[in-house]
Amino acid sequence: MNLFITNIGQLVTVASNGKRCKTGKQMRELHILENAALLIENGIIKKIGNANELKPVEDIDVVDVEGKVVLPGFVDSHTHTVFAGSREHEFAMRAEGKTYQEIAEAGGGILSTMNATREASKRDLYRLAERRLTDMLRHGTTTIEIKSGYGLSPEAEMKILEVMNDLKRDHYATLVTTFLGAHAFPPEYKNDHNGYVEKICNYMLPYIAERNLAMFVDVFCEKGYFDLHQTEQIILEAKTHGLIPKLHADQLSSFGAAELGAKHNAISVDHLEQLTDASIEVLKNSQTVATVLPAASFFLNHPYAPARKIIDAGIPLAIATDFNPGSAMCYSMQIMLTIACTQMHMTPEEAITAATLNGAAALGLSQEVGSIEVGKQADVVVYDVKDYRYIPYHFGVNHVWKVVKNGVVLEF
Ligand SMILES: [Zn+2]
Repeated sequence: MNLFITNIGQLVTVASNGKRCKTGKQMRELHILENAALLIENGIIKKIGNANELKPVEDIDVVDVEGKVVLPGFVDSHTHTVFAGSREHEFAMRAEGKTYQEIAEAGGGILSTMNATREASKRDLYRLAERRLTDMLRHGTTTIEIKSGYGLSPEAEMKILEVMNDLKRDHYATLVTTFLGAHAFPPEYKNDHNGYVEKICNYMLPYIAERNLAMFVDVFCEKGYFDLHQTEQIILEAKTHGLIPKLHADQLSSFGAAELGAKHNAISVDHLEQLTDASIEVLKNSQTVATVLPAASFFLNHPYAPARKIIDAGIPLAIATDFNPGSAMCYSMQIMLTIACTQMHMTPEEAITAATLNGAAALGLSQEVGSIEVGKQADVVVYDVKDYRYIPYHFGVNHVWKVVKNGVVLEF
């Protein structure tokens, strides 16, 4: 599609000039053009220039944004979007001070979402996720990673992965699929954890790879969940099938999960609330992106990941929502920017870089999306504000005015 966008008050390009991500002080460089215009051809950014100089070609749709702010579409590199049921009763119990154990005994926790998801039909799961994805687009997120992980049996995990791939084909958002069969141990394997790991390695991974159902594999590497040895087994097996590892690491405790990810060239290690200085040293010497998830800390009242230390060490840092029904029931990347700035000592510029270009790097997509540069996918979002810093500053409302996906102005 061809489109001309003009009178852009601030065009926040996050340009990286071919680099896959930004690190350290570069994260503050957003490369903003004032009074700018954009020419889009066939869904690709063709020209960027000053609105007084760059003029539309004939017979092209023109969008005059009247001084508003334009940012690259957000890249949410960590979500659990396909699930059924909800857990507001658990939320209320937590507010009354009930412990995790008490909530689990009352039928809450991940297994409650597992039961609801197992019972749901493919059609129901598709509809639920489709609505969420459309709402994410509405909030400015144009690229979204989705993990399986609420099925925890071969049949239910494959059902979720098939829904994810149907949505990938149908939905306007760019979707990236991850297999997280190792999210928790299902009740069937309560007393045989290694049996479930074997099921994943010997049955699920080959099945998924053969049908090309996922690009990444993820493991919840945590005490009481998948230990370092089991995680490594899954990563190694996944690699033989061409799947790229990502990890849930150092969320509740620190025992070397982030290091394990770095050792195996994980594309990202995510959470990192308990990341130690020693782990930061290891990550420094790897290509792995450190993805922090502000909503999980906010929602659970847990400590925040040491974002400042990670950035100052020169490690590429990304921000994602971790959207899921248990620990982060929020998919607004705009709110993630606010939490990053108020709770994680990041500047608005660093937060925007982390939510766009570096998020794309966490999915291996930074050559296509994550910044507004000639040759990239035309995923651009217009915000009804005069200054990009207003977006994290005035939180809790949606500032999006228009979403342009692959050069198409979306109508919601
Ligand atoms: Zn997660």
